[in-house]
Amino acid sequence: MDWQDIGVRAAKGIGISEEEALQIVAMTDPEELRHLYQTAQGVRRTWKADFVNTCGISNAKSGRCAEACSFCSQSAHFNTDAPKYSMKKADTLVAEAKEAFAQGVREFSLVASGRALTNKAEVAIIKDALKGIREETGLQTCASLGLMSREGLEELKEAGLMSVHHNLETARSFHKNIVSTHSYDEEVDTIKAAKSLGMYTCAGGIFGMGESWAQRVELALELRDLDVDSVPLNFLNPRPGTPLEEQATLPPEDCLKIIALFRLVLPTKDLVVCGGRALNLGDRQGEIFEAGANGMMIGNYLTTAGRQVDLDLDMLEAAGMVVRAPPHLPHPPSLRPTLRVEGTDRNGL
Ligand code: SF4
Repeated sequence: MDWQDIGVRAAKGIGISEEEALQIVAMTDPEELRHLYQTAQGVRRTWKADFVNTCGISNAKSGRCAEACSFCSQSAHFNTDAPKYSMKKADTLVAEAKEAFAQGVREFSLVASGRALTNKAEVAIIKDALKGIREETGLQTCASLGLMSREGLEELKEAGLMSVHHNLETARSFHKNIVSTHSYDEEVDTIKAAKSLGMYTCAGGIFGMGESWAQRVELALELRDLDVDSVPLNFLNPRPGTPLEEQATLPPEDCLKIIALFRLVLPTKDLVVCGGRALNLGDRQGEIFEAGANGMMIGNYLTTAGRQVDLDLDMLEAAGMVVRAPPHLPHPPSLRPTLRVEGTDRNGL
């Protein structure tokens, strides 16, 4: 493998070929793997320096979903203990966003269970919440509301939505093994609708659901074709009651190799490590930045608790990462005296 050439191409924004990606996923030689992580970290630094995007979410509406996605404890098809509640009030969502901001989150996503957000009253709540979050916090706003049309997204954009999250979940060739109630093309159409409006698009997948390494490469290439801005990388947390409850977690080595693979396929994009980080990576979580990630989710996930925020901030500090300010807020308040935040000096002044 010509690592220097890969680095030179990545610095021009050109990702590795499918053939190179397949060579990388087959690598086991420790010396080659050392080169892989060195190159992935170099590419991350070239495009993202040591800035880290911190994301947080609110599970705005939970459970009772008519769709059947095998990994998801919120599907009504499975008997799980995931919380079930209707859409939270806008005030509650804004209060949660404020709390997340104080904890170090810089992009906040409103997430709702269900195939699509079509109920007018629920759309009104999301619009009010977006407006409130934009007015009362410095957060970049994001929403993950299932399948969305261009018109629906346009309405939310006018209310203050900046970023659209919609995962492809997995490779096209594996999607039917995981999702039985909607098609891959429907997922893709939501992302294309967001892109057609010039919105920041965030789309990735979940790893460890039984897909092959070749299918992980396939997903990375599909996301490159779609030209998404940010790629959330989730590692399965097998939920009791779901069809994937018996699935083994991934070894940390596999998680880190997936991150490095995506960094080299998508050199210029944001790579955000999200669900399943603590469960799958354990005490190797701090290595995600060496593998090429430049973002991570902080706080709780949709239906499972995240790690203590303080531990995550410790990890960022130890890795020398600098929390990136949201685009419209160049000088955010410091999170703690020693943690570096864009727009402030080392002492947070
Ligand atoms: S992933 Fe979304 S669409 Fe699929 S079952 Fe869960 S809440 Fe429903």
